[in-house]
Amino acid sequence: MADNRQVAPGSELAEPLDEAAIREFSSRIQGQLIRPNDGAYDEARSVFYGGFDRHPALIVRVKDTTDVSHVVRLARESGLELAIRSGGHSVAAHSTTEGGIILDLSQMKGLEIDLQRRTAWAQTGLTAGEYTAAAGAHGLATGFGDTGSVGIGGITLGGGVGYLVRKHGLTIDDLISAEVVLANGELLRADAETHPDLFWALRGGGGNFGVATRFQYRLHEVDTIVGGMMILPATPDVISSFVAEADAAADGLSTIANIMVAPPMPFVPAEVHGQLIIMAMVVYAGEVDEGERAIAPFRALAEPIVDMVKPMPYPEIYPPEDDDYHPVASARTMFIDTIDRSVAETIVEYLRTSSAQMSVAQIRVLGGAMARVPADATAFAHRSARIMVNVAALYERPDEAAVYEPWITDFAATLRQGDDGAYVGFLGDEGEGRIREAYPGPTWQRLAEIKGRYDPTNLFRLNQNIRPSAQPTNDALTENRPTPGVDTSEHVADS
Ligand SMILES: Cc1cc2nc3c(=O)[nH]c(=O)nc-3n(C[C@H](O)[C@H](O)[C@H](O)COP(=O)(O)OP(=O)(O)OC[C@H]3O[C@@H](n4cnc5c(N)ncnc54)[C@H](O)[C@@H]3O)c2cc1C
Repeated sequence: MADNRQVAPGSELAEPLDEAAIREFSSRIQGQLIRPNDGAYDEARSVFYGGFDRHPALIVRVKDTTDVSHVVRLARESGLELAIRSGGHSVAAHSTTEGGIILDLSQMKGLEIDLQRRTAWAQTGLTAGEYTAAAGAHGLATGFGDTGSVGIGGITLGGGVGYLVRKHGLTIDDLISAEVVLANGELLRADAETHPDLFWALRGGGGNFGVATRFQYRLHEVDTIVGGMMILPATPDVISSFVAEADAAADGLSTIANIMVAPPMPFVPAEVHGQLIIMAMVVYAGEVDEGERAIAPFRALAEPIVDMVKPMPYPEIYPPEDDDYHPVASARTMFIDTIDRSVAETIVEYLRTSSAQMSVAQIRVLGGAMARVPADATAFAHRSARIMVNVAALYERPDEAAVYEPWITDFAATLRQGDDGAYVGFLGDEGEGRIREAYPGPTWQRLAEIKGRYDPTNLFRLNQNIRPSAQPTNDALTENRPTPGVDTSEHVADS
């Protein structure tokens, strides 16, 4: 996303950290401290998206929950802005800060898989790909998104829409409990019975409530899938038919269709380079023969340009990634009801006329298990949304935003169909109005009340922020002591 710095509320009270304070802090920390003069600083401050050249005063690669508590307390006492980072893929670059502190969880990768119960406790420094590979070794999976390098921290707190969404629902639908370091530095476990208000809010409410250090997930038997990439020509007829087939398909099939100009990649035939294609990623979770039957209608839409859909182990859906890829992007997310031929024509027209290095309309047909959860069961309320569309222009230099922000705004406005909702995981820095659209109806009010109980001073504000409602004095922060019996042991091997 293009850089759009804001002065965080409260930052005018911040004091720079002096050497004595840093030394004292450092003596209590097991993990790594990185400061502006350190060799590792530039790499450590960078995030997935390019165009965000921010200079934190301190980066702490925490080693355990005690470190997390110390960092939270330091941020509270110093008033410095606190950025929480798991996988660093925030679309709004909320996991970096100018002059503040980055709490980087990327070294906390403990994973404990309980094969009997089919559950996993995972520390939030894991990426979706790392978790999926480890669980996949047992033929098991929890659904995350379409990209292996996304952190389980951010994607889970936002909701989690991915390759198993129609079969098993959102990531949060498999969340059993969470351990969170609150604004007062204390560790608390939340689940359906213990602190159910917080547990409700964590499932979609983003990083507003504390630092999630571990999640306990349900695992499903997802061994060999029928899946992979299929490239089709992106004519209006094929696009609208693709969406219709994806909607009619069995719940086992989840699809992500990227309408884009074919890049000059080795697996794309040279004569197709520069033409508009549907680069679709599909996953059928279930029996292989059923999967082949589910894919057949897509193969029949047009002669596939590339067809790599085949039976394969589920973790292979996350291919290796290039760590040096840091695109600058302008993007918008929305929910829509239908992509008929005329909507598909609009998509084709916009993408054909774009001058960006890459422009894409990503279509995710929803429904299935995700839609069977009541809208008020979690803080993700868009259960009846039919289709999620993300439009994006990717380019090289941040100053090109002047060209592509208006273009993407116009493209998104043309596609909207009355639902102003937004998925918080794909929101950029788009203002409070859009955050409210992520939390429609009573969801916003309920989140604000819970925020008021758990983070009344809005310490966790560098996120899609929900400002706390005023609370009576007996707020949860002073009431809640650490949950007895919470196991804070750090790295536990697979069992
Ligand atoms: C290339 C790409 C592909 C994506 N694909 C999908 C997809 O298929 N499905 C989907 O649902 N989303 C997807 N997303 C969106 C993604 O889920 C969000 O951007 C998410 O916030 C990224 O999580 P992260 O941990 O990598 O990011 P970070 O930048 O580390 O974190 C993002 C924010 O989440 C909060 N946060 C993260 N970890 C914690 C924690 N442990 N405790 C408290 N707060 C925390 C903080 O507010 C932080 O600023 C994608 C994003 C990108 C860039």
